[in-house]
Amino acid sequence: MSDNKVTFGEVDENGKHVTPMLDELEKGPWPSFVTGLKRLRDSKDKQYAPMMNDLLGQLEHSYEKKKGFWKGGVVSVYGYGGGIIPRFSEVADKFPESKEFHTLRVMPPAGNHYDTKIMRKLCDIWEEYGSGLIAFHGQTGNIMFQGATTENTQLAFDEFNKVGFDLGGAGACMRTAMSCVGAARCEMSNYDEQKALRGIINEYVDDMHRPSFPYKIKFKFSGCGNDCVNAIHRADFAVIGTWRDDIKIKQEEVKEYIKEHGRKYTIDHVVSMCPTRAVSLNDDDTLEIDNKSCVRCMHCINVMNKALSPGDDKGASIMIGGKRSLKVGDLMGTMVIPFMKLDTDEDHEKLVEFAGEIMEFFADNALEHERIGETIDRIGLPAFLEAMDIDPDPNMVNHPRTSSYVRTDDFTEEAEKYFERKKAKAAEQTVAAE
Ligand code: SF4
Repeated sequence: MSDNKVTFGEVDENGKHVTPMLDELEKGPWPSFVTGLKRLRDSKDKQYAPMMNDLLGQLEHSYEKKKGFWKGGVVSVYGYGGGIIPRFSEVADKFPESKEFHTLRVMPPAGNHYDTKIMRKLCDIWEEYGSGLIAFHGQTGNIMFQGATTENTQLAFDEFNKVGFDLGGAGACMRTAMSCVGAARCEMSNYDEQKALRGIINEYVDDMHRPSFPYKIKFKFSGCGNDCVNAIHRADFAVIGTWRDDIKIKQEEVKEYIKEHGRKYTIDHVVSMCPTRAVSLNDDDTLEIDNKSCVRCMHCINVMNKALSPGDDKGASIMIGGKRSLKVGDLMGTMVIPFMKLDTDEDHEKLVEFAGEIMEFFADNALEHERIGETIDRIGLPAFLEAMDIDPDPNMVNHPRTSSYVRTDDFTEEAEKYFERKKAKAAEQTVAAE
């Protein structure tokens, strides 16, 4: 790091802030965000160039002092209680052009499916009303339009709204959801992720725009166990695709694979890598899978993607309470619904209903600044399951095949009780239907 110190707010002969420490970050093999900021600063015909110049000046000053000089405040658009992250500079006298640098969080389309026309439109709007600086996408999943003045915040939002975009969540609310690219482009997908996402968000969008929860609650949707949106540890409500029947095997493709890679490679990279030893290779180069032992980790399917694919009886598992890091430490989502069919509109309605029940429980029972995983940790899983009217199920596992959190000192007895409860429930439903 350079030890060149600059005077607070020092500029060169062209009026650009001198930034020796930031310049260091442009060295090395990776793209640098500093280069991006400078590109915006040097866009001579753009109205935001002076703002970006002062932004760079303030950032250099922050690096020098090892302190951020932004403070929050209240900025919002009509009818909304969240979605804008206000930032006011504490050193505005030295960097007046960037004294207000607010961020608009805008909800992306489910699965981040854009076309270039709409992307150009979004860029044009932000060049007119903001700094030109956009992050696709922030941690929450939103498109982050960074750097608007207080006055332009409403104007930019109105334009985004006209082209069909809405603000996302910020604060103690239902947050913007994320789904993987999904069935539209991925053969591993086990349900319609986009439909599941939109179903929940559209129904409860009011809880996104007007924060009224004890703390944030996030929804993420992955189509399979590869979990491309990291739902298991980033979402309070994770929906992850899976299947109940057998993995589909094309033995001809297995043979092709072995012809290309060899038996040793296949054993080393597929058979031995199965976490539950469910895969075996026969002498005649066919593959066998003990599907009862398979935990749907996706490894063998990922490696032999022409030969293997998820079964036909598809659906999703729901895990509640994931987040890293919480006050109680990192938490993976807890398996609460081991399998839910998501084929019909009715199935999707059930999912939306369940999401509503979870949020109601959260709103009623969580303490201030407590995520639902912490609430469950505090009150205990049995109390949570009882509150949600969910029967304990041996398929609710902490760690595949080793720690079902249904008591297992006499597993057979517990399993029998479970099947009896299931039978009784089915009988009740039949009576109700009649
Ligand atoms: Fe084994 Fe995972 Fe393949 Fe199942 S999906 S058979 S657990 S490697």
